[in-house]
Amino acid sequence: MKQDIKSMNLAELSQALQALGEPQFRAKQVFTWLHKGARSFDEMTNLSKTLRQKLDSQYEITVPIIVRKQQSAKDGTIKYLWRLRDGNCVETVLMQYHHGNSVCISSEVGCAMGCAFCASTKGGLVRRLTPSEMVDQVLFASLDSGLEISNIVLMGIGEPLDNYDTVLRFLELINSPDGMNIGMRHISLSTCGLVDRIHRLAEEQLQLTLSVSLHAPVNEIRSTIMPVNKRYPVEVLLEACRDYFQKTGRRISFEYAMIRDVNDSKEMAEILAEKLSGLAAHVNLIPLNNIEESPLKPSSRKAIMEFQQVLEKHGIPATVRRTLGSDIDASCGQLRRKYESKEA
Ligand code: SAH
Repeated sequence: MKQDIKSMNLAELSQALQALGEPQFRAKQVFTWLHKGARSFDEMTNLSKTLRQKLDSQYEITVPIIVRKQQSAKDGTIKYLWRLRDGNCVETVLMQYHHGNSVCISSEVGCAMGCAFCASTKGGLVRRLTPSEMVDQVLFASLDSGLEISNIVLMGIGEPLDNYDTVLRFLELINSPDGMNIGMRHISLSTCGLVDRIHRLAEEQLQLTLSVSLHAPVNEIRSTIMPVNKRYPVEVLLEACRDYFQKTGRRISFEYAMIRDVNDSKEMAEILAEKLSGLAAHVNLIPLNNIEESPLKPSSRKAIMEFQQVLEKHGIPATVRRTLGSDIDASCGQLRRKYESKEA
């Protein structure tokens, strides 16, 4: 098996090239080629032919294949279905905003978390992605579309904090000035609430935005729609959020999918406001997107507005998330892992 070279950081590349008898500066050259989207070592024309051959005999360069590309007629959002080396497929969504283009990337093939309203988890977890497979989603979405990427959200398929070390390596790679150079403040990571990992992430002192999928402020409701709540109940989760905020000074964004007659009453908004007080939180209300397998329905426009007003009355900023790409099933919770055989 050849080693996956795009998952290596600069220090590892330096060591590898030193072992091949090459000078220090080579590592940067190779790193830059990889993160510009080189598909083979032969493209790396500032390396000798012998070195290119040596690298090729030991390392492989991942290149995902586009199985399907769909573009929303409503808002231009593009959804890619990629095939990975082993035939598994994941989706990536590219959204165009006035303030810049944003890609929503997947961190796992499938998901183990089992949230009742989310399509990504329906077949369970197949495997975790590698750092290069995460970088490739940003890189090749940009190259294919010709659009420059300024923001990244880790909000696609999978639970990023369940793939912790890989996600941290991905952040290091994508943030590198010799690579795509995307600033940490332009990256959001969303979690369903893996508390031990939130505490760990707080220690890393990253400037990224942490989003927490809360969806209900009380255990009786949250446990029925999010199995993770049985392991880490609301109080424990919010405690971890306080710790995160204290240690990093970064305010947390809470995602709240508005589900008709489940979590959308004004009383729930009051409880939510009370529980989030002192957290400098921001709440993102997401009108629930329909998925085939679930009987849950979105809240009415009126219920969402009223919920928002209650939060704001208590001084908690709340925005209603614009739904992009709904005509191509590219909205929150609608992404799926797929196999090549079904798609081709
Ligand atoms: N596993 C991470 C990353 C997924 S992010 C997490 O849970 O945060 C995707 C966001 O969309 C999460 O907030 C998720 O709860 C939300 N979501 C999932 N299904 C949805 C649906 N059908 N409608 C609206 N939001 C949904």
